[in-house]
Amino acid sequence: MARPAFVDELNIVAVGGRGGDGVVRFLRERARPRGGPDGGDGGRGGNVVAVAEARLNSFVSLRGLREIRAQDGEPGGDANKHGASGNDAVLKLPLGAKIIDADTGRVHATLNTPGESVILAQGGRGGMGNARFKSAVNRAPRRRTSGEPRETRRFKLEFQLPAQAALCGPPNCGKSSLLRAMSAARPKVAEYPFTTTAPQLGFVSLSESDRGAVVADTPALTENSSQGAGLGCAFTRHLHSANLLTLVADASAGADSAAADFRATLRELAACGCGKIPVLLALNKTDALPADIRESALRDARAQLKREIAGGKIFALSAKTGEGVPELARAILEHCDDAA
Ligand code: GDP
Ligand code: MG
Repeated sequence: MARPAFVDELNIVAVGGRGGDGVVRFLRERARPRGGPDGGDGGRGGNVVAVAEARLNSFVSLRGLREIRAQDGEPGGDANKHGASGNDAVLKLPLGAKIIDADTGRVHATLNTPGESVILAQGGRGGMGNARFKSAVNRAPRRRTSGEPRETRRFKLEFQLPAQAALCGPPNCGKSSLLRAMSAARPKVAEYPFTTTAPQLGFVSLSESDRGAVVADTPALTENSSQGAGLGCAFTRHLHSANLLTLVADASAGADSAAADFRATLRELAACGCGKIPVLLALNKTDALPADIRESALRDARAQLKREIAGGKIFALSAKTGEGVPELARAILEHCDDAA
């Protein structure tokens, strides 16, 4: 199976600050009518700098950003006063972000360690004031130079999204529906423009923060996928970095069936080397349980799972109606936040 392309992209224009102009000034004091040239140099323009930020795990906080500009340098002043430098503009990128020069296609940098930084666009140098041009032959120069112009560069940013959480379970338990339901529950997520959309990937975030978790919908882990029967095991190679797995089972088929499904999934995951990853248990399709016995059936199922399945908080939900889905999404995010 081809590796799913979990690559997000962003195109951005970086504009360095213009250098401040040097100025022409002459000292004029009552006591010193011929005080001489004292025009100061312009300040440097700010740089556009990209910095790797361990806290970030996506380009979500940069959504809508097309251009980033550093501040221009200030012109020089009287009395040889140097113009103030422009402030740098800082672009915070997640660890592992790859920065490609959009004009040449060459990799400009890959930010791999927290705090690592690289200049995207240089600030221009400031111009020289007329005080610089004073000489024995020219005691009152009117010469000065302009600051360097802005540097504009275009970049393509790429970020390989690591799947932090994944939904696992047998065919038809509702993994794809659940991923959709978790994403659809938050408009912010639904709008998130993955340029290379993998259908089995969702970005789940809470609207009050720009942190989120990349949740993968895995192909069904069918019985014996660890022996190569299904696609599951090939996929699990990509889950070793996941912080959390959500095991999904169909609750409408009864507690015994759900418990058996969870056990089978856990067995398969262990056989694929993913046995140490923490799990949550999701009992899906609760809407399909007859209303009059739903409460008691779920209570019994919870009790049975607690007895029979080691660890794992249990969530009862319906991907169809959305009931219980935000609670699961929140638990996934909290877990991924803690693990970050
Ligand atoms: P997957 O194979 O695990 O990805 O399962 P799907 O998401 O494709 O769902 C399989 C079937 O179960 C589809 O017909 C869904 O409409 C249905 N389904 C999924 N979630 C629910 C649910 O919460 N309630 C009900 N009644 N049906 C569901
Ligand atoms: Mg599916």
